[in-house]
Amino acid sequence: MTGQERSEEKSECVSLSPMMEADPALPESERVCVFGTGDLGHSLGLRLLQAGYGVVFGSRRPHSSSRLPHGAQVLGHAAAAQSAHLIFIAVQREHYDFLVPLANQLKGKVLVDLSNNLRKNQYPEANAEYLQSLVPGAEVVKGFNTLSAWSLQNGPSDANRQVYICGESAEAKEAVIAVATKLGLSALDRGSISVARELEDFPLQLFPQWRLPLRIAIGLSAAFFFYLLIRYVIYAYVTQGKDISFRIMVSLANQVCPIVSLIMLSLCYLPGVLASFLQLYRGTKYRRFPDWLDRWMLCRKQLGLLALGFAFLHVLYTLIIPIRYFVRFKATERTVSVIRENRTTEFDTTTAWRSDSYLSLGILGFGLYVLLGITSLPSVSNALSWREFSFVQSKLGHLTLLLCTAHTYLYGWNRFLSSSTYKWYTPPGYMLCLVLPSVVLLLKLLLITPCVDRTITRIRQGWERGADQRNPKDSQPLIP
Ligand code: NAP
Repeated sequence: MTGQERSEEKSECVSLSPMMEADPALPESERVCVFGTGDLGHSLGLRLLQAGYGVVFGSRRPHSSSRLPHGAQVLGHAAAAQSAHLIFIAVQREHYDFLVPLANQLKGKVLVDLSNNLRKNQYPEANAEYLQSLVPGAEVVKGFNTLSAWSLQNGPSDANRQVYICGESAEAKEAVIAVATKLGLSALDRGSISVARELEDFPLQLFPQWRLPLRIAIGLSAAFFFYLLIRYVIYAYVTQGKDISFRIMVSLANQVCPIVSLIMLSLCYLPGVLASFLQLYRGTKYRRFPDWLDRWMLCRKQLGLLALGFAFLHVLYTLIIPIRYFVRFKATERTVSVIRENRTTEFDTTTAWRSDSYLSLGILGFGLYVLLGITSLPSVSNALSWREFSFVQSKLGHLTLLLCTAHTYLYGWNRFLSSSTYKWYTPPGYMLCLVLPSVVLLLKLLLITPCVDRTITRIRQGWERGADQRNPKDSQPLIP
């Protein structure tokens, strides 16, 4: 007997004192073991106890483990392993070699690998695969690693309930799913152990689907901010010697926000339109879209939500216009000069119509914008049928784009033709931002014309151009 085995045996003997022995009244399926009494082990043990399981901790120092949940037992690793069929390994991967001498006790047991890494590709193989190679006699299941100790401690009402598992043994996975269900979690079986690396990368993800939309939003904001800064603030300083730099804070921001919002909303609908034209050109839906278009389509929701965020900022900036010092000063000055000069001004019905229409279209557009945002929330979209969802996101979405574009055209009104609008021969920001939505709306208009719409609908139902010659039966019209 080696010195290590002797000390292990000594430790087991001490741990199995009557007061610490695992509750024999509970069947093995109601007892679980947790290796490691750290943050995750402690929180998981607490939740397992609350769910009615008998919990036995396996620890290096069973006598000095002070922060255990009330009602749990603590033993040496070997003795703890014998008390349950299912063992959660709440220990860092770096220390997994302590399991090698326990190979006999762990034979046939289900080991749940909870470990995560500090960065992607930190090790050549997934932690779960490494664990399986160390203890080949056990059934390793990767899972629960997307939960945090904090969320486990806070209970199911205040945390993500979804957990992912993977592993080779269906029985072992079923045992883990049963425990997850009893803890109030919903477990999704992702397949074999080869998926473990993907599950280990989940907690390391940093908004992967938001990256491209955020870059676009930041890029557009910066580009238009500098463009408008030159056209307004620097232009006024150079040509008239006026310092209007104070306008940066509200006026400029209130121009950048709607511009970025409208462009991003167009970018949200442009890939769908391009995909339709590509299908029309190819005459089939059975050929993959180019990767760039696929990626673009996958981040439409994030583009739309960012566009809504910018539209919301535009609304807030617009609402504070009447309380701005500059606006109040100008209004007072104008009123005083009208009185002093005893001038009368005519009420212009056309201007009133234009201003009210401009505001009304903006309000309607923003209302639909909010509706689109709400229906993109998973809890809401899950409650909608596919037809309802596509009606809101596609039909109402294009209507939103139309209203917001019309709102911007009304803002420009007759200034499109006035040469004074083009300072330093450059068009104002709102004119530039109209290009993309106008193109998207024109292309969409083409797509909904009856002959094009009919062809695209047939393609989406599986019809292929040229297939009629190959198989005459296919030439039967799909739409009677
Ligand atoms: P921790 O607080 O540092 O606890 C780790 C435990 O492992 C220690 O308390 C210790 O328990 C045991 N241990 C330490 N060195 C050991 C060794 N050389 N040999 C055997 N056992 C040893 O870590 P944790 O935060 O609980 O995380 C544990 C694992 O869960 C990690 O792989 C982590 O990636 C994963 N995880 C953690 C969280 C979280 O929110 N904390 C979330 C998901 C996944 P004893 O002293 O009782 O032996």
